[in-house]
Amino acid sequence: MKSVNGNSVCLGVVIGKIQFYRKNAHEISKVILEDIEGEKNRYLAARDKAIQELKELYENTKTSLGEDAEIFEMHGMLLEDEDYNDEVLNIIDREHTNAEYAVFQAGEHFYDIFSNIEDEYMKNRAIDMRHISEKVILSLQGLHQVTQLKEPRILAADDLQPSETVQLDRNMLLAFVTKKGSSNSHTAILARTMNIPALVNVDIDKGWDGKLAIVDANTGCMIIEPDEKTIEKYQRIIDEQTKQDDMLQELKGKESVTQNGHKVKLYANIGNLTDLNYVIENDAEGVGLFRSEFIYLNSNDYPTEEQSFEIYKKAAEALGQKRLIIRTLDIGADKKVDYFNLDEEENPALGYRAIRICLKRPEIFKTQLRAILRASIYGNISIMYPMITSVEEITSIKTIVNEVRAELDAEKIPSKKDIEQGIMIETPAAAIISDVLAKEVDFFSIGTNDLSQYTLAIDRMNDKLEDFFDSHHEAILRLIELTVKNAHNNGIWVGICGELGSDTSLTQKFMDMGIDELSVSPSKVLKVRQIIRSCK
Ligand code: PEP
Ligand code: MG
Repeated sequence: MKSVNGNSVCLGVVIGKIQFYRKNAHEISKVILEDIEGEKNRYLAARDKAIQELKELYENTKTSLGEDAEIFEMHGMLLEDEDYNDEVLNIIDREHTNAEYAVFQAGEHFYDIFSNIEDEYMKNRAIDMRHISEKVILSLQGLHQVTQLKEPRILAADDLQPSETVQLDRNMLLAFVTKKGSSNSHTAILARTMNIPALVNVDIDKGWDGKLAIVDANTGCMIIEPDEKTIEKYQRIIDEQTKQDDMLQELKGKESVTQNGHKVKLYANIGNLTDLNYVIENDAEGVGLFRSEFIYLNSNDYPTEEQSFEIYKKAAEALGQKRLIIRTLDIGADKKVDYFNLDEEENPALGYRAIRICLKRPEIFKTQLRAILRASIYGNISIMYPMITSVEEITSIKTIVNEVRAELDAEKIPSKKDIEQGIMIETPAAAIISDVLAKEVDFFSIGTNDLSQYTLAIDRMNDKLEDFFDSHHEAILRLIELTVKNAHNNGIWVGICGELGSDTSLTQKFMDMGIDELSVSPSKVLKVRQIIRSCK
């Protein structure tokens, strides 16, 4: 029995046999050729075939994967790039070499260039350059990329391409473990989308092929050739988990209401359109927090009004009459976007971020507001503003919203006139003056992640401070209670969208305070509903 660690990118526990994923591509060797033009044409034909396959892959997966399928579109675009093509053709010309070798060299060339760029986004593109080259090489060799699993297996690989991941049969894939990969890689995102337990950064050993193993992605470890006692222990964990999951399924369609009849709006938090599948799958009653900054984080440049509008419209339509609360841009602090050109700061969490950027750069804010207001006629959209500390900020926001409305009206573009607007209560300042703020807005949503870091003076990104962090600190609970009281005294509703909202050891306390809404990660919805229904 041997145990190794890895980083979990999707939770879950499974027991099964390991199968090594062997790419079908042969070793690439350099062959010197006479027929240079013929080789160039062979490359171009293989490249076109790869582009066509990527297009089909995108078409076949865009409904199930949503925007995660865009990786295939992006890979197709990279293959159409002139610089990449010129590099391959130049290598064939210069070195009189076979197309496979030239494509491999070109992939490595661009891999090196992208890996050395400081920008995190561009660094992540380095692996894409290798992936597209592998795809063309396979096409040159007339091979298919995917090994289909015939029985349920834990797949082990050096690295998995997104296109490989989605083509694997979900029913046969128990889990996957890879040597490379990061939690933000597209493959990791797809693992979460497909809900497959997965570990990356595992020091895999080819000798494990065919051996029995346990993948415990809940704690980030893998046990190879477990003994009987360990198998029994993990089987009990799996059985218990299955039992709990089955019981929770029965709560779908049921109300989130306490024994005393207090009905709570139980919503979910999302970061992109794909997450909407989980909102619906887990029977959330709406979206209490759409972290819109992820649209900006996933983009190379400022998203246009049209691009943002399309995303908000799709989300609103998918939810029908269910509420969709779009939080305006919360960029800054740990969420950095290079094209914003933000200065390095001593204390970024206390710095130029979120609404402060929007108020200082109204052109960015206005583009987003136009997109949200235009999308508002397609569903039940509310707007929420982050990091508020004062009434003056709300006054400035209102001025800008009114300007945007007037522009849309003048252009005869329809928008919902009485759109609900709320603020996040995530600074102690906002909680303390929530009696005054409540007169200005339609609702409050308490962001306990930031509220905790600012109240306790504990940087939420600093893992060294974990021992000092008390998420149930009396100061935080009092600020929440004060906010709820001030909201209700002024006739508005109040919810929690920070992580504390899904802390079921506090659910009874929140019910006692009279909280109106809880917005939690989609996978926690049914568990929280179960606890609400048991509350007094
Ligand atoms: C919060 O601060 O609690 C919150 C929900 O916002 P974020 O985690 O995105 O900062
Ligand atoms: Mg926050």
